Amino acid sequence: MILPGATLGVLGGGQLGRMFTLAAHSMGYRVVVLDPDPHSPAGHIASQHIQAGFTDHAALQMLGDECAAVTTEFENVPADSLDYLARFCAVRPDANAVRIAQDRIREKQFINDCNLATAQFDEIFEIGDLEGAFEQLTPPLLLKTASLGYDGKGQLRVDTLQQAEAAFEQLGNRPCVLEEVIDLACEISVILARSHAGTTVYYTPGENSHRRGILDATIVPARINADIATRAVQMAGTLAGAMNYCGVLAVEFFVTHGDELLVNEIATRPHNSGHYTVDACVTSQFGQQVRCMCGLPPGATDLLSPVVMTNLLGDIWGDSAPAWQHLLEEPHAHLHLYGKKEARPGRKMGHYNCLAGDIDSALAMAGRIRSKLGF
Ligand code: ADP
Ligand code: MG
Repeated sequence: MILPGATLGVLGGGQLGRMFTLAAHSMGYRVVVLDPDPHSPAGHIASQHIQAGFTDHAALQMLGDECAAVTTEFENVPADSLDYLARFCAVRPDANAVRIAQDRIREKQFINDCNLATAQFDEIFEIGDLEGAFEQLTPPLLLKTASLGYDGKGQLRVDTLQQAEAAFEQLGNRPCVLEEVIDLACEISVILARSHAGTTVYYTPGENSHRRGILDATIVPARINADIATRAVQMAGTLAGAMNYCGVLAVEFFVTHGDELLVNEIATRPHNSGHYTVDACVTSQFGQQVRCMCGLPPGATDLLSPVVMTNLLGDIWGDSAPAWQHLLEEPHAHLHLYGKKEARPGRKMGHYNCLAGDIDSALAMAGRIRSKLGF
């Protein structure tokens, strides 16, 4: 077990790394962040910031020598860098899990190999593969780059072969998946934590709504029947077990109108849809990340209150910051800002959690704040 007083490392210095750092600090660990950005939200508050790229072997060795264990907060840290780092310290989750999650083709194959359903899809390596795929799949379809997509980036809706060919070129002639658009009843996610010893705990599934491909809000508990919730938790556990996973794992699901559950994607780290756990659960997803990487047993995941998490995107920053007093006037709302210097449209700048005795009240509070902030 790696106990408080030890030094932990995180690859990536965004908001997830920042909230990891806050959790680790409060438990008495030192934190070293590796990120090339001099203004990274996590680097700013860490005990030490190694400002270097994710493939810089000298920097990785420096991080590994200094830390008892290292984790990632950023989807696209090259898996090979994690393998290299593992020569010097414990790396959790390991490169194999990250390698699966950072490539949509490998990810969907892995999910299907676990006998779990995804949207119907085909692999597109070159433009000529599209014609055969169109014979298999029923439009409307989405063409998604296999790697480096996030927040709806790197995906285009296509209804005809001609559109798909144009889209493939627009996305840079890179490996893609072409998948059927699902008529969604809703989207949910399950966050779990799996210890080094294999003990797995699950958070209450959350219901996610998106705007322009970006998560907008998470409602917890999700408004789904108990059977769907139970199946989603089991499916998430199957995926974690199959990877012999260690760490926090997020599994995104599509729920169809026929109550079918399709796995959309997995994230090998804490997840935006798990930010509610910081204010509304016994153990936050970031506290769990610390526990898992340190070889400690997972903490309890009890939901203490219904909660609605709402993202704050750069769009609501005008010439000055939003009028936070409107949010802070609400005694059951919690504001979290990531300390990013520049607000850009679509950029995640922060979020807020609204806690209430029931979901309708929490939604009303979130809506009140939203309209006062003007979005
Ligand atoms: P990202 O890596 O950007 O999160 P996702 O594949 O999760 O990529 O897509 C983002 C969002 O776009 C999803 O949460 C969902 O709202 C919508 N979406 C993606 N794929 C589909 C699909 N096949 N059918 C319906 N909606 C989809
Ligand atoms: Mg997603």
